[in-house]
Amino acid sequence: MATRKPLVVGNWKMNLDHREATYFVQKLAWLLRDAHFDYDDCDIALLPPFTSIRSVQVLVDADKLNIRYGAQTVSVTAQGAFTGDVSADMLSALGCTYVLVGHSERRRYYADDDALLVDQVRAVLAAGMTPILCVGEGYEERREGIELDYAVGQVDDITRDLSEEDAAKLIVAYEPVWAIGTGLVATPQSAQDAAAAIRQHFTHIYSAETAQKIRILYGGSVTASNATLLMNEAHDMDGFLVGGASLQAEEFASIIRLTL
Ligand code: PGA
Repeated sequence: MATRKPLVVGNWKMNLDHREATYFVQKLAWLLRDAHFDYDDCDIALLPPFTSIRSVQVLVDADKLNIRYGAQTVSVTAQGAFTGDVSADMLSALGCTYVLVGHSERRRYYADDDALLVDQVRAVLAAGMTPILCVGEGYEERREGIELDYAVGQVDDITRDLSEEDAAKLIVAYEPVWAIGTGLVATPQSAQDAAAAIRQHFTHIYSAETAQKIRILYGGSVTASNATLLMNEAHDMDGFLVGGASLQAEEFASIIRLTL
């Protein structure tokens, strides 16, 4: 079985301007150093708003920090008259590793639809970065008991035409919408069930080998208080996508340490 390195991603959403981002990264680096943290055991990533990415890059480069970073969304076009957009190549030029695709807030507030998400995945891969595809059921689907089919269906909608080689590069974040920013957390068993169902889907579509390479994260009200239980009991899960609890360096550092 492939051994997948744990990954903890901080999704800052529309928080932390470039000055706050600088302070955060300096503090996080200090906290992790202080804890004699072995960077080799866990991948760490930050997803700042666009305007803070360059500040994160400068610190990461200057101090050779083993912290990766990326963006929360991306344009599907390469360049030109698309006011307000930022292209995948621009993000790649800033040293970005990851780009979120299909976060429920993008799907809900900006109507990002499947066709757009398919193109975003392609654009991110073409620029040599890794898409983190977000899926997860809402309260209604959970109440009806169809959450696994729903999340797997979302994965299939976006990845169905990917080659096996490209699929192996994906990261999937299972984030039940009812758990995002609400303080309600999926039980370790339901996070495990979702991760296992998604991995099973990739086994079925591609191969066990490819499915074992794909990292699957859990997101939705992850904090330093619930990370250990989730990590210990949801074996198909490879880490976390953290929103609110990623805005304080101390708590984010704790979650990283608990994920090891
Ligand atoms: P939350 O957000 O940790 O604040 O629930 C997670 C996310 O939206 O990625």
